[in-house]
Amino acid sequence: MSVLVWFRRDLRITDNPALEAAYRSGKSILPLFIESSGKAIPWRPGSASRWWLHYSLSSLDASLRKRGSRLILRKGNTVQEVLLRLLGETQVEAVYWNRLDEPQGRDEATAITEALKKAGVETREFRGQLLHDPERLLTAGGTPFKVFTPFWNRLQASLHSVPTLAAPSKLKAPDPWPQSLCVDELQLLPSRDWAAGLRENWTPGEAGARAHLRRFLQGPLEEYLEARDRPSLAGTSRLSPHLHFGEISPRMLWNALEDAPRETAASAISYRRELAWREFAHHLLRHFPATPENPLRPAFEKFPWRRSPKDLRAWQKGLTGYPLVDAGMRELWHTGWMHNRVRMIAASFLVKHLLIDWQEGARWFWDTLVDADLANNTLGWQWVAGCGADAAPYFRIFNPVTQGEKFDPQGAYVKRWVPELARLPVKHLHAPWEAPASALKEAGVLLGKDYPKPMVDHRMARERALAAFASIRK
Ligand code: FAD
Repeated sequence: MSVLVWFRRDLRITDNPALEAAYRSGKSILPLFIESSGKAIPWRPGSASRWWLHYSLSSLDASLRKRGSRLILRKGNTVQEVLLRLLGETQVEAVYWNRLDEPQGRDEATAITEALKKAGVETREFRGQLLHDPERLLTAGGTPFKVFTPFWNRLQASLHSVPTLAAPSKLKAPDPWPQSLCVDELQLLPSRDWAAGLRENWTPGEAGARAHLRRFLQGPLEEYLEARDRPSLAGTSRLSPHLHFGEISPRMLWNALEDAPRETAASAISYRRELAWREFAHHLLRHFPATPENPLRPAFEKFPWRRSPKDLRAWQKGLTGYPLVDAGMRELWHTGWMHNRVRMIAASFLVKHLLIDWQEGARWFWDTLVDADLANNTLGWQWVAGCGADAAPYFRIFNPVTQGEKFDPQGAYVKRWVPELARLPVKHLHAPWEAPASALKEAGVLLGKDYPKPMVDHRMARERALAAFASIRK
């Protein structure tokens, strides 16, 4: 008899509580991943995420094979349908998995628990995706947190030192192995290959995650406090897609900072605070599961959004005429990732300058980000739009020009992603429409031809946004 380990978004063998428990049982282990293709699945992974998943599964399979095991891949309409079919083919006495706190993940786990109970198969659920349990970490009044700082204080007070679980060195194989699809048969890769930029920038899988962590601990961590807001620097950990797919656990990151040298203490706290934003995002999604589609603040349901497919398209393509926004949108398109500071500015531009519904932006990010994460993306967009928990106040409307001057003072980020402006002197780079004709000519830029004129005037857009926000406050 075997224990089946149902891998979900915990595509790692180190610090994986479900795998560890199966290993400790002494039984043979059947590692399984299910691609559910049912039409009714909301927020099905977007194109960039599917690209990532393909390679992450291959990497997990390779790690398992080094330990005498392998990853069985199956697909079907629902996870319970696939699992029940597989149980009919194998000798499985228990199914273990790590919990996902998102609506879809919880629904799947509930359906599987019920189906397996009827089939007389034991089920066990473990925790490995988050540092906290959203059902237990609550305010003194027993309600979910809606403000970050008290959540952060409670989170720190509640965490005890828990060592990272080592990867099992050898995994007992079932005999015989059930049939498996090969990873290509899951059809996760795009049919037209647009993923060269993703390949250049990322190595999906546990080894890629560890390499990023090492790089971060050995260099950027020291300067994290100052450099994390500079999009031209590799000043952040870039672990977000690895965390999303569970190729590294938040516990491993938290613990790794424990051993960081004393001179990096302030940066280590700042980094843990960012990890806590991830926890907060999942906490909110657990307690307010409708927020990917609905604003947390009901007043925003009657917000007068504009519908403009043409403006949306210009924003998506990085052709707004505001260099910092365009640089971010092009970084996203090419690499599948965008720096956090620029995410805030580009998202704010969409919802405040263009008055386009935050959900349009969230859907575009969902499809193009390699780290697309329902909790973090929902929190990020609702924060920017002002309709979420602890959100940016409605009157904070980022000025993309002054933000560019502040966070990209040498213009290195804009020059990299908007090369048509690369020869423009830095003092004109963030507002090329204000540059004298001679400077534009010398830089070889004809506005409206080589690079767009700004699609909206900042002052007009600001007044329009303030009026729209005022209309829902009445
Ligand atoms: P680091 O600075 O190294 O931070 C470490 C980790 O902390 C990150 O990997 C991430 O898991 C977490 N983290 C950091 N900042 C945040 C934050 N503001 N909110 C939640 N978690 C955070 N992050 C995603 O992982 N997926 C998304 O789909 C996503 N969508 C976003 C949309 C918008 C509009 C905004 C403003 C932010 C979004 N973020 C999202 C949050 C943030 O931009 C990324 O987590 C961060 O840029 C990832 O880079 P990093 O790993 O180098 O971050």
